Amino acid sequence: MRWDNLAENRTGPGLFDAEAVRTRTFDTPEFRGVTFHEVRARSIVNRVPGASRMPFEWTVNPYRGCTHACVYCFARKTHSYLDLDTGLDFDSQIVVKINAPELLRGHLASRSWQGAHIAMGTNVDCYQRAEGRYRLMPGIIAALRDHANPFSILTKGTLILRDLELLRQAAQMTEVGVSVSTGFMDEELWRTVEPGTPSPQRRLDAVRTLTDQGIDCGVLMAPVIPFVGDRPDQLRATVRAIAASGATSVTPLVLHLRPGAREWFMAWLGVHHPHLVRRFERLYAEGAYAPKWYQRRITGQVHALAAEFGIGPAQRGAARRIPPVEEPELPGQTQLTLL
Ligand code: SF4
Repeated sequence: MRWDNLAENRTGPGLFDAEAVRTRTFDTPEFRGVTFHEVRARSIVNRVPGASRMPFEWTVNPYRGCTHACVYCFARKTHSYLDLDTGLDFDSQIVVKINAPELLRGHLASRSWQGAHIAMGTNVDCYQRAEGRYRLMPGIIAALRDHANPFSILTKGTLILRDLELLRQAAQMTEVGVSVSTGFMDEELWRTVEPGTPSPQRRLDAVRTLTDQGIDCGVLMAPVIPFVGDRPDQLRATVRAIAASGATSVTPLVLHLRPGAREWFMAWLGVHHPHLVRRFERLYAEGAYAPKWYQRRITGQVHALAAEFGIGPAQRGAARRIPPVEEPELPGQTQLTLL
């Protein structure tokens, strides 16, 4: 692994000292086959590239790589900067910035920091399974609470419920936005395409708990996967379940396939839905995004269903509304992926 790619990037001081990386494995069923690379990061608050198009400018990402292992994950490409592959290595070689809470607290206290909104979960999931062991988020949320710094979290991880009390405390001090993402309710599709995540229903149960406890929570309905997750009955079942969860909003987002994710997703498609490979190649012939007509069709269907079930779209500025960034990421920069 080329830690020097991150330890000494060309755009400024490296993210951490290459010699300070500590590699660990844990012999428990949930972490079997997973290697953790513990690093002491030099900085933790990242500026979003192309920030003028974003509703916020700053992110915090305590992990790289994600054991939730979604086949389509847009963040896969970032692992190639470590000379790791964007497939299995992304799912199983996890970089952990073990000093994230203390670094953030120092950053928030600095005179130059103006208290801007900080978004989390926009690159990889901050409530992936590793968080159960490393417990970085409680310190991060506590720092944000203590500095009354507004923030948002986007996740597929039900582990967020562990930090409910901290979120409630933070919400009394500042603006806190929580969004959960689930693009479909289909259990069979979930098991193969998002194999490391809590089930869609468990995620929506978490939304119910959050809203019942006074934390507003929206749902990013993402990704809507063409041909396997976009039938009218599938969209209907998903929006109905989201509305029933008490979510404050639903926002659909069609699958996009950037390099890194595209190869991995197409390999999955070839195994599970080989008859659809040609159709996908045609639909995504122009690049990473499905054509505008397709995106508009899905958005229109979801909005109509949302109106029927009495749930609204997200407000501007919520984490779930962030458009994906197309600029190539340099080592050490943040890439928004949307879970
Ligand atoms: S889409 Fe989100 S939850 Fe899934 S692997 Fe990527 S970062 Fe993790």
